[in-house]
Amino acid sequence: MKRIAIIGGGCAGLSAAFTLEKQRKSGVEVEYTLFESSSRFGGVLATEQVQGCQIEAGPDSFLTEKPWASDFCRELGIGDQLVASNDADRKTYIVVKGRLIVIPDGLMFMVPTKILPTVFSPLFSVGTKLRMAQEWFHPPRKAEADETVASLVERHYGPEMVDRLADPLLSGVYGGGASELSARAALPRFAEMEAKYGSLGRGMLAARRKMAHSAKTPRQPLFTALTGGMQAIADTAVLQLKALALRVNSLVQSVQPQNDGWVVSAGYASDYFDAVIIATPAQIAADLIEIASSALAAELRGVQYTSSITVNLGYEGKVRQMLPPGFGFLIPRSEGTRMMATTFVHTKFPHRAPPDRALLRCFIGGSRNESLLEAPADEILKIVRDELAQIIGLRAQPLFTRVYRWRRAMAQYPVGHLERLQRIETLLQQLPGLALAGNGYRGIGVPDCIRTGDEAARKCIAALGLAAETPQKTALT
Ligand SMILES: Cc1cc2nc3c(=O)[nH]c(=O)nc-3n(C[C@H](O)[C@H](O)[C@H](O)COP(=O)(O)OP(=O)(O)OC[C@H]3O[C@@H](n4cnc5c(N)ncnc54)[C@H](O)[C@@H]3O)c2cc1C
Repeated sequence: MKRIAIIGGGCAGLSAAFTLEKQRKSGVEVEYTLFESSSRFGGVLATEQVQGCQIEAGPDSFLTEKPWASDFCRELGIGDQLVASNDADRKTYIVVKGRLIVIPDGLMFMVPTKILPTVFSPLFSVGTKLRMAQEWFHPPRKAEADETVASLVERHYGPEMVDRLADPLLSGVYGGGASELSARAALPRFAEMEAKYGSLGRGMLAARRKMAHSAKTPRQPLFTALTGGMQAIADTAVLQLKALALRVNSLVQSVQPQNDGWVVSAGYASDYFDAVIIATPAQIAADLIEIASSALAAELRGVQYTSSITVNLGYEGKVRQMLPPGFGFLIPRSEGTRMMATTFVHTKFPHRAPPDRALLRCFIGGSRNESLLEAPADEILKIVRDELAQIIGLRAQPLFTRVYRWRRAMAQYPVGHLERLQRIETLLQQLPGLALAGNGYRGIGVPDCIRTGDEAARKCIAALGLAAETPQKTALT
């Protein structure tokens, strides 16, 4: 019987455990142990019910176009809980000089694909609109080296597009801004489009046409969540794993190679395993692996993380009428606020608030606000309420508030990230039976983390000679 340790019980670790459990149930001679340092599984997936409202402390949904999270939910038997964002009311605003300006129709991420709505939008100056027209004739260009998202977008559309769209959109996903993130790692499709079409606008339209031709299915919603909350993914997975394999309050301190396997030390106990999957943030993986390989530890430590804070405010239902219609707003860095975004949760996901409640979720933090993480909740709430009053005139007293702090939970992919991953993969080849999963590597969202957990488990199974799994290209083992 082969034994595999999984360290970290977030969605990546749970996905790895679930894959091993399926193998075990199908007769493969494998056992696993899932070590989680906190008292609960799920990592940043955490849902709380307050006064009939469903509050998401961490991720509130996932991108539908990345199938791994939805597939995982279906496998877990909670496919019927998948719920689409209410795209009929989708409208997102950007704060420009203190005013809300709607993102024009046809803007795909930050690439304009419809002429008229963009031409008439007050979101962009005449200069940027001219740049958009010229962009259509951008010649194909195969970049020799990686660059920041800001530099790629600025080359195509000018600096205003970086400030008003690229930066706020990316801050919402990574916490970090466009001038910090690698174009190849964060927006690989853009680099491909530039090489093939030159113009991102033409590339995006070609991609859309291709999808329209091939897809027989109706248009997908942008975001997907679960009626039972994001934590339902973790809670359901845990119920399907072998109870004896699950260890909460088990902080792993080190993993060290021994004979042909690994010794995992947690608390005063050490245990021998044939393979190990580390599914923690990369910085923690670095500490765990230090003794086994200081070179690998140094590379993992180089993956930077930012912190973030989500602030949820529940109001009386009449507040709904005071808010602009839509999903919420994003705030460019140049506005000088602490808040980066606000979601009108009751519109984006109506099941999350009863009709007599309005629910807002504000996002602070990232590289702009690291120090706020230590601030008392009252101070954070005051900042959020002052800025809501300033931007949308909302002065109503909330019925309840919740502040959640996530320390160094959002991985950043700066220029050079992909080269770092190659070096990590090379170093891993010298450490057979060790695999990495989680948000530090090839995708920060929930679907990518679930995918990396599954891939790491299958790689370990194959490496131990237990089954001939087809290795997937992106796994870090
Ligand atoms: C506020 C916020 C909002 C987000 N919003 C979205 C969103 O809307 N959509 C989306 O797709 N993604 C979103 N993300 C990103 C996504 O949620 C995360 O990248 C993903 O869930 C990370 O999963 P993970 O399993 O890799 O890591 P984690 O969830 O961080 O889990 C790692 C686990 O390892 C445990 N651990 C750490 N050290 C040890 C140790 N030494 N021993 C044992 N256990 C250990 C931790 O306690 C934790 O449970 C958001 C992230 C945050 C923080």
